[in-house]
Amino acid sequence: MLKINDLHASVEGKAILKGINLEVNAGEVHAIMGPNGSGKSTLASVIAGKEEYDVTQGSIFLDEEDIDELAAEERAHKGIFLSFQYPVEIPGVSVTNFIRTAINETRKAKGLEDMPGKDMLKMIREKSEMLEIDRKFLSRSLNEGFSGGEKKRNEIFQMAMLEPKLAILDETDSGLDIDALRIVANGVNKLKSKDNAVIVITHYQRLLDYIVPDFVHVLHDGKIVKSGTKELAHKLEAQGYDWIKEEVGV
Ligand code: ADP
Ligand code: MG
Ligand code: MG
Repeated sequence: MLKINDLHASVEGKAILKGINLEVNAGEVHAIMGPNGSGKSTLASVIAGKEEYDVTQGSIFLDEEDIDELAAEERAHKGIFLSFQYPVEIPGVSVTNFIRTAINETRKAKGLEDMPGKDMLKMIREKSEMLEIDRKFLSRSLNEGFSGGEKKRNEIFQMAMLEPKLAILDETDSGLDIDALRIVANGVNKLKSKDNAVIVITHYQRLLDYIVPDFVHVLHDGKIVKSGTKELAHKLEAQGYDWIKEEVGV
């Protein structure tokens, strides 16, 4: 599904990603870990196509298509979802209306008509029940006065409704409390299927007790220096990152 070859990227002229290779297949959950400043969020942003980042070398393929030239919006239409892509507060626009617009824009980009209101309501009902989201929450103004947990709930609801092919959840800097952790993990576990893939970015191993990854990659100074299975995350939790640096000589 996703194939990244020798990816180099910079921001404001400073090289951040220095040769990333990563392959993610449908049905897989990948965790990306690594110390602060190693480039995790940059990698997420580059995959999603955020404009501030310049790809200086290498390529990103989604389903055999080179997406490097596509704008963030077009990548979203192709099924790439990045958490916190829409963190803005919009007074007067409800959680539901926002997602309705996002879904219909995606459909329009594919040459489809708006989703019939009846189908939309059915989908909203199903997804919100699945994620145990209160009805009242759906009519609140987007992100206005949301607590940390509510922001997470909104994000996971957006993900559920948009049914992305590839969901990238960057949880590094948000200092997730147990409540938020459960919301995220629950959502991911309910939504993952053989047809989609998830990349979870986290500084801490704790989240991976709830979302069990198939593969774990460690990023250091813009490169993936080690890959393994969930055992690698446990070892990192117990021993930190220093042994990896010694092992790979960075
Ligand atoms: P991580 O998510 O692993 O903590 P980041 O990708 O956020 O790491 O950051 C990697 C490096 O890139 C850091 O040195 C950071 O300061 C720098 N960086 C990231 N985004 C920007 C930006 N928009 N402008 C300037 N520097 C940035
Ligand atoms: Mg950081
Ligand atoms: Mg980060």
